[in-house]
Amino acid sequence: MTFADLWRELEPLGRDPGTGGYRRYSWTPADAQCRAWFTREAEKRGLTVHPDANGNLWAWWGEPRPGAVATGSHLDSVPDGGGFDGALGVVTALAAVDLLREKAFYPERSVVLVAFTEEEGARFGVPCLGSRLLTGVVDPQAARDLTDDSGITLAEAMASAGLDPALIGPDPALLDGLGAFVELHVEQGRALAPMGSAVGIAEGIWPHGRWRFDFQGRADHAGTARLADRQDPMLPYSSTVLAARQAAAEHGAVATFGKVIAEPNGTNAVPSAVRAWLDARAPDEATVEETVTTIRSASERFSQEQGVTLSVRQESYTPLVRFDKALRDRIAEVLAASGIDAPVLPTGAGHDAGVLAARLPTAMLFVRNPTGVSHSPAEHADLADCEAGVQALALVISDLAGPK
Ligand SMILES: [Zn+2]
Repeated sequence: MTFADLWRELEPLGRDPGTGGYRRYSWTPADAQCRAWFTREAEKRGLTVHPDANGNLWAWWGEPRPGAVATGSHLDSVPDGGGFDGALGVVTALAAVDLLREKAFYPERSVVLVAFTEEEGARFGVPCLGSRLLTGVVDPQAARDLTDDSGITLAEAMASAGLDPALIGPDPALLDGLGAFVELHVEQGRALAPMGSAVGIAEGIWPHGRWRFDFQGRADHAGTARLADRQDPMLPYSSTVLAARQAAAEHGAVATFGKVIAEPNGTNAVPSAVRAWLDARAPDEATVEETVTTIRSASERFSQEQGVTLSVRQESYTPLVRFDKALRDRIAEVLAASGIDAPVLPTGAGHDAGVLAARLPTAMLFVRNPTGVSHSPAEHADLADCEAGVQALALVISDLAGPK
């Protein structure tokens, strides 16, 4: 089956007809459809699908044996996300298996295709939750207690999808069986287009984290409450947004308030509370810390001025990731030998590969994104570039899993 055929089948699942964006939130019907599609496609190819206890799907080509070569990405999305983020890596992995089969390749080392769960953290707030649980960097009880915006816990969501949330947590046996992980992903940014390359190799991932800001004020009447008497949490929140932009520019970082909830969210009421989430990233950890400290202290000052109480809590943090240099060099060599010039790039985006990199040799391939736009329905990759990604991934798999 070609990449385009596979893509056509997955494309409509979880897409909002109004915005054209994807809402593939974990443990929802859209997510179940994507999982069923992956399982079906894997089984059609004779792969054996073993879901792990954390909800990640593993499709084995050949008997699971130590030193397996893993490849894949995630199927969930951000709110109104693009179709390529995550899905491209999963579809490419299936298409690469087909391509290798056509060439009569049979793996000497096991090959396993993976679809990680809740990579975006769009529903439960913690990105890469599936890989973090697997590697044991998230406490299972804390994970079970995570809630979505309507108060449903992860434990409840998993149970309603037929999984036993009591079993989530680290799986060292599964990890020990993996010799390498290669994640192909759509480029999020625009570095490859001006270089004229369809495919790139990741160098590392910027350190990044999420912080929740709770501004607690006092609800009041928008018509009768005197300005001087108000404790309006929207005011320190909005000043904080501007301060974040300024602090990021000064420190050479990026800082974003992309999610905000006003309570009770009424047009004619001073809000009682504003909850907002800060995402901050920078080339190094000290810069992330300085940027967040600057934003936080500015926010405390603004809140005090308005009689608003502020509490700030870190929800997740990922240190600087450097991908395995030996694996990266080997991939560059394999691609170069086939005439593929794949530049090495850093990225500000987090990935499951970044989490797994702490446990095993890990690498990433990027497929050119002509506009650089991601986490948006406008995200795009040309079909020819996706096919170049399939070729590159197949070359890498045949090198890592083939006869030596
Ligand atoms: Zn992604």
